[in-house]
Amino acid sequence: MRTKVAIIGAGPAGLLLGQLLHISGIDNVILERQTPEYVLGRIRAGLLEEGTVALLDEVGAGARAHREGLVHHGIELAFGGARHRIDMTAATGKTVMIYGQTEVTLDLMNARKAAGLTTVYEAADVKPQDFDSDRPRVSYLKDGVAHEIVCDFIAGCDGFHGVSRASVKPSAIQTFEREYPFGWLGILSETPPVNHELIYSNHARGFALCTMRSMRRSRYYVQCSLDDHIDQWPDVRFWEELKRRLDPQTVDNLVTGPSIEKSIAPLRSFVAEPMRFGRMFLAGDAAHIVPPTGAKGLNLAASDVHYLSGALREYYDEKSSAGIDGYSAKALTRVWKAVRFSWWMTAMLHKFPDQGEFGARIQLAELDYLVSSKAAMTSLSENYVGLPY
Ligand SMILES: Cc1cc2nc3c(=O)[nH]c(=O)nc-3n(C[C@H](O)[C@H](O)[C@H](O)COP(=O)(O)OP(=O)(O)OC[C@H]3O[C@@H](n4cnc5c(N)ncnc54)[C@H](O)[C@@H]3O)c2cc1C
Repeated sequence: MRTKVAIIGAGPAGLLLGQLLHISGIDNVILERQTPEYVLGRIRAGLLEEGTVALLDEVGAGARAHREGLVHHGIELAFGGARHRIDMTAATGKTVMIYGQTEVTLDLMNARKAAGLTTVYEAADVKPQDFDSDRPRVSYLKDGVAHEIVCDFIAGCDGFHGVSRASVKPSAIQTFEREYPFGWLGILSETPPVNHELIYSNHARGFALCTMRSMRRSRYYVQCSLDDHIDQWPDVRFWEELKRRLDPQTVDNLVTGPSIEKSIAPLRSFVAEPMRFGRMFLAGDAAHIVPPTGAKGLNLAASDVHYLSGALREYYDEKSSAGIDGYSAKALTRVWKAVRFSWWMTAMLHKFPDQGEFGARIQLAELDYLVSSKAAMTSLSENYVGLPY
C-alpha cells in the first residue's frame, strides 16, 4: 500500500489528524491496534477547549457536539467548607464544552467512514521503519498476514504506550517526567450532576472532582492511593468518601447511584523532546502526558495535530519544509505551558504525603488568593479555557 501519511493510532489525535489532512487533499491511512469498539469504550476526557471544538467544526464533525455538548462559563473551587466560583467567560470571553472523548471519537470515526478513508483496525506488530530516510515504511500484521505501507511521512499518534516513540533510538530523544504519589479513582453514574459546573475540591482527606458527561450522566473522582484497587472501592465506600470531601451544600444536592464504570488512573507529567525524528512526527499522548487536573490531554492532542496538519499542508501545497522543520518547537511551546498549568493545578489541589501542615496552609492561602484576586482568576481562566494556537 502507498499513502502520503501513515498514521499510527486511531485515538483522538490520529482520527483528527486524518480528517484535517483529508480536507487538505492529503491522503492517509490509519493503523490501530485495537477494535473500534474497544477504542470507543475507553472512558477518558470530557472537557473541550473552544479551539478543539473549532477543529471538529473545521473537519465537519462538530455538529453533534454543538447539539449535545454542555457549554460551561466557569468552574467552582471548594475549600475550607465553602464553594467559590470563577467566572472564566467574564475573565476571557471564552467557554469550555463538556462532551465526552468517546463522543468525539465516534464523530471522527463516522466522518472518516463517510469520507471512505482507510483505517486498519486490529493491526498487530505495527512498526515504523526507515523514518530517517526519504522512504519511510510502516509494517504490520493483519489476520496473521504481513503488510507494508510505503509513505512520505509517519505520524505517531499511538498514545503513551505506543510503538512510535519507542522506535526512536535513545540518543535522539530526551524525556522529562514527574510521577505523582497518588491516583484518581473515577466513577461514572447515570445520575444528574451535583452542580451545573465542575467543582474542584481541596480537602484534608484528599482531592475530589465533580464533573459530568451530560445532564443525566455524572463523573466523580477522588484522590486515592497508588496501591488501591477498584475491588477495595465498592460504590458505597466511594460515595461516602466523596461526601466527606465536599462542602455541606454540595453533599445535600448529591444524587448517588450505581456506578457504570470505575477505574483508577495514576497521575503523571511527561514530555518527550523533540516531536520530530526525520520523517516521523509524534502527536498527542505519544509525546506528552499531563495529570487530568487541568483537563488538557485531549486538547493538547488537538493542538498538536492542528500544527502538524498545517505543516504538512505547507509541505505539499507550497513545497516548503519550513512548517515541518518548525513543528516540534511550535508544538512544544504550547505543550510546556499546559504541562506547567496541569502541574500547578495538581499541586494546589491534592494532598501530598510530605506536605505537612505548612504545605496545607500554603495551598489554602493560594486558593484564597485565587478566588479574591481578579489577576489570579484571569490567569487561571486563560489557561483553563486554552491558550491560543
Ligand atoms: C482517566 C483519564 C481521564 C482523562 N481526563 C481528561 C480530561 O478531562 N481532559 C483531557 O483533555 N484529557 C483527559 N485525559 C487524557 C486524554 O484521554 C488523552 O490525552 C487522549 O486520549 C490523547 O489522545 P491520543 O490520540 O494522543 O492518545 P490515545 O487516546 O491513547 O490513542 C492512541 C491510540 O493508539 C493506539 N495504539 C497504541 N499502540 C499502538 C500500536 N503499537 N499500534 C497501533 N495502534 C496503537 C491505541 O489503541 C489508541 O487507540 C484523561 C485520560 C485518562 C486516562
